[in-house]
Amino acid sequence: MPRSFSETPEKSGGTEESRVNRITEALLRWYDENAREMPWRGIADPWGTWVSEVMLQQTRVETVRDYYPRFLRRFPTAAALAEAPEEDVLKMWEGLGYYSRARNLQQGARQVMAEYGGRIPDSPEELRKIRGIGPYTSCSIASIAFGVPVPAVDGNVIRVICRLYSLTENPMESRNRERIEKLAGELVPEDRAGDHNQAMMDLGATVCVPGTPDCDRCPLREFCRACAEGNADTLPNLPQAKPPREIAYDLLILRRGDQVLLRRRTEKMLQGLWCFPLLEGSRSPEELETFLQQKMRLPVQNLREAGEAKHVFTHQVWRMKIHTAELLRDAPAPEGYSWIPAEKVPDVPMPTAMKIPRTILEKNGKQ
Ligand code: SF4
Repeated sequence: MPRSFSETPEKSGGTEESRVNRITEALLRWYDENAREMPWRGIADPWGTWVSEVMLQQTRVETVRDYYPRFLRRFPTAAALAEAPEEDVLKMWEGLGYYSRARNLQQGARQVMAEYGGRIPDSPEELRKIRGIGPYTSCSIASIAFGVPVPAVDGNVIRVICRLYSLTENPMESRNRERIEKLAGELVPEDRAGDHNQAMMDLGATVCVPGTPDCDRCPLREFCRACAEGNADTLPNLPQAKPPREIAYDLLILRRGDQVLLRRRTEKMLQGLWCFPLLEGSRSPEELETFLQQKMRLPVQNLREAGEAKHVFTHQVWRMKIHTAELLRDAPAPEGYSWIPAEKVPDVPMPTAMKIPRTILEKNGKQ
């Protein structure tokens, strides 16, 4: 029978403690032989652990492998990041996405300098007071960098625990989530908490993967209820995610001599990053020309369509029709926009969504 969250493992037998110990031992044995090598592992540097954990949120390990060493070379300590201009931080983060992580990391570093004398605290409770550090990250830093025996429960660990105990209710409901935290916590050994949490992450990322898990390779197979019951591929029982909202934009690459019009975003999404003008909607070149003249006081000539680009964010899909144009006669940048020398465009932090327009600008510059 599938196990709901209200049932406790203890009810299913009297040897739960030894079962828990055996699970923990089997997992660590597997980890000792199969741990993925990563530049942030075994470093004994809480700052490096913090940076890696922030980068790894919603980002693939392979991508972080590239960014992490470069970022640490430029900002080797919390003090170095705290002192840097935000624009430099965003430039180093360019392409990693979820840019609020970079801004929060910098604010967190400033907080550590101002409130903790530059020393990163070691308890999950204190870590959680720092900007950008939530329940998961506080526990992962505390366990990996300081050996505190707390579970770090992310999506991978939720999946492993739901399957291990065949928990069939929605794990995102708070009482179910608490139950998962408790079960995950029971597995954490006093002496190797960091390794245990990293082993759970590795297991979830490489063996107990979403969809169909690779149970034949799993060190926990003999303990796994979902595997025994044949329902592992239906767990965790997550609610259907809403499809992302599609938004059409006219994107404009507008030149004034050797300058180009850009806008530094003030919206929460991609805040602080630079974009070409993005005008919501889809217009013909004639309609766009009229719009620019009337709404933005930008008289343009040679306006043409130059291609299309699509970018998928978690909650939005941008469909961008790209136009190039030149300013007909001198005009100031509309409020919030700036004329930037075209050769400086590669130096300003831009989101990946601007990659194709930036390439078009570069090509046009060479013609
Ligand atoms: S046996 Fe299968 S379902 Fe169970 S934890 Fe291992 S990989 Fe996941």
